[in-house]
Amino acid sequence: MTIDLRSDTVTKPTEGMLAAMWSAEVGDDVLGEDPTVRALEIRLAAMFGMEAGMFCPSGTMSNQIAIKLHAGQHKEVICHKDSHIYLYEGGGIMANAMTSVRLLEGHYGKVSPEAVEAAIQPDDVHAPMTTLVSLENTMNKGGGSVYRLEEVTAIQEVCQAHQLKLHLDGARIFNALVASGEKAADWGNVFDTISVCLSKGLGCPMGSVLIGDKATIHQARRIRKAMGGGMRQVGFVAAAGIYAMEHHIGRLGEDHRRARQVADILREHPHVEEVFPVETNIVIVRLRDISPKEMLSKLNDKGIKAVQFGQDMVRFVTHLDITDDHLQAMEKRLK
Ligand SMILES: *Cc1c(COP(=O)(O)O)cnc(C)c1O
Repeated sequence: MTIDLRSDTVTKPTEGMLAAMWSAEVGDDVLGEDPTVRALEIRLAAMFGMEAGMFCPSGTMSNQIAIKLHAGQHKEVICHKDSHIYLYEGGGIMANAMTSVRLLEGHYGKVSPEAVEAAIQPDDVHAPMTTLVSLENTMNKGGGSVYRLEEVTAIQEVCQAHQLKLHLDGARIFNALVASGEKAADWGNVFDTISVCLSKGLGCPMGSVLIGDKATIHQARRIRKAMGGGMRQVGFVAAAGIYAMEHHIGRLGEDHRRARQVADILREHPHVEEVFPVETNIVIVRLRDISPKEMLSKLNDKGIKAVQFGQDMVRFVTHLDITDDHLQAMEKRLK
């Protein structure tokens, strides 16, 4: 039995999800005629108290469209130096949006309102024009750390005072909301746009939804088309998203409990120097006396898979396809 903790993207659709996909009612979504896609978009947007949504093939595309919407040539986006939009989207900020980026420091991947305010460029022809702040919740590189509503509200105030747009990379927003107990609608109030991934903790084969107000999402559809992201009978995959909203949000707490168990097991490991605080489904460990490559190869020999995360760190992620049996096996194999 392989214990695959590389990412929450490795999940396979459940039987119930596949059944929902097979029986989806579909149409040409580029013509706005796919009822299942529309239902998913409206449902997700409404949950966050927002007007409109747009289905995208990937979280990367949702984020990149948001950056193109809110920034662009001669403009600048402020984000944490470990943000997914900067580190893991293939240089898209520059390649897609031709936007300059201002990187901030901050504990466990989170930024403070003071740091954001200090990074805003002066109104001066020498400088790019700051137009966008992008946050990430949960924060992948911060070990699945969670922003609280009051923290992002303070950042929203800075954005409003300086007329900046505020985007949320909410690839794992449901993990954050389940962990904090906060309401989606309160989060929708804070941001101009939010990207929500269906293919992470929610266990869908693909997809992300970008939500915002009607005018913003209308414009976003133009950009999506130009990026090649307009899809036809894509209701077959949107159906997986609706199914996941009904069945896979409430259970995310199980992934979080199992992540804490993974952390407990790893703490006993002779090559683990430090375990990041575990708030959601991500466990990052700092190694001692071994390289990540060697560590991963040792784990692999025992049928345990993880990924390298920086120079001396390894990441483990729990998900829909990890059960208590996997964790019992993991504990035995590492003893
Ligand atoms: C996975 C992820 C994305 C989007 O990734 P895709 O693989 O393009 O769907 C965006 N942000 C974060 C934090 C992620 O973990």
